Amino acid sequence: MRAVREGEVPPDGGTAVQEDPDRPVFRGNGPDDYVCVQCGTVLAESMAAVHMTKKVRVRCGRCSTVNVSVIDGWELRKG
Ligand SMILES: [Zn+2]
Repeated sequence: MRAVREGEVPPDGGTAVQEDPDRPVFRGNGPDDYVCVQCGTVLAESMAAVHMTKKVRVRCGRCSTVNVSVIDGWELRKG
C-alpha cells in the first residue's frame, strides 16, 4: 500500500480506521496481505486485489498514516 495523495480521494469512498494495531481491519480469502506504507503494520490480511481499490483506505492504528491500495492500471482494466 502507499500513502494517499492529496486530492485523489474518491467522493464515494470511506476510510477504515484500524483500532487495534495487532489486528487487521479486513480479512479475506485472497493471496495478499496489505501493510502500512509507513510502519509495516498489517492492515488487511488475505485480500484479493479486486477488493483493494482506491476506495479502500485504512488509517493505520499504529502511526495514523492513511494508506490506500493501488494496483497500477486497475481502474483501466476494470469493466
Ligand atoms: Zn503505520
